[in-house]
Amino acid sequence: MIKTKNQGLLIVVSGPSGSGKSTLNQLLIKKRKNIVMSISDTTRKIRGEEVDGVDYNFISKEQFLENIDNNKYLEYANVYADTYYGTPEDFVNKQLSNGNDVILEIDIEGARKVNEKRKDAIFIFIMPPSMQILKNRLVARKTETKEQVIERFETAYKEINEVSKYNYVVVNDDLDEALAKMDAIITCEKCRVDRIEEFDVGNKEEIMHEILMDFDKK
Ligand code: ADP
Ligand code: 5GP
Repeated sequence: MIKTKNQGLLIVVSGPSGSGKSTLNQLLIKKRKNIVMSISDTTRKIRGEEVDGVDYNFISKEQFLENIDNNKYLEYANVYADTYYGTPEDFVNKQLSNGNDVILEIDIEGARKVNEKRKDAIFIFIMPPSMQILKNRLVARKTETKEQVIERFETAYKEINEVSKYNYVVVNDDLDEALAKMDAIITCEKCRVDRIEEFDVGNKEEIMHEILMDFDKK
């Protein structure tokens, strides 16, 4: 009776480094169907267990600048100390038109650029339960040097001030609860009336005729 748009949802997820974005997004992808992560290009060095082409496409600054000139990016930003990150637009568009939801795990500047270009996107901010807990998680992750943790923490204070520009905030205290909230947000967004493409109630006279016949049979 109701046909909804086949187009997937564009979901932007931001939050301070260490707030749990990648943990939550990976769980979300396991939990839901038809949802993919966009893989960003970055000029930063590969770290820890990361895999090229899975976590990021690790490319040179020259290649990144060439890609900017060729309009390859839906958005890009210089997030940390001369390190570029960008979302390849082709992949996102193909996935959305195939009906897959796409998650962009990007910083606040990138989110602002997506907001200007794509009015259909939804914006979720992952908030740590406290700055103390954020610090503990970031230090315990052991993927950054002391200088990098300090830089990320400086940025975290700026990022948290931008929360009111997002549609939703999820406090990542209990992981299962935070995951359930993200799942619910996406489910709700898919029920929005502006996703209705066609509304067909059939032929009223036929149904009325059937009602009369049903009662006549009794
Ligand atoms: P981000 O992607 O935002 O930088 P991560 O997903 O890497 O953050 O999470 C940072 C660290 O905190 C990781 O070591 C992760 O295992 C841990 N973590 C994430 N969510 C929780 C949570 N709800 N409770 C405890 N630890 C968490
Ligand atoms: P990290 O180096 O810890 O993986 O990521 C650092 C920051 O860059 C995070 O806030 C992350 O969300 C952001 N980021 C990752 N990919 C992109 C991207 O394609 N565009 C933008 N604008 N930010 C990104």
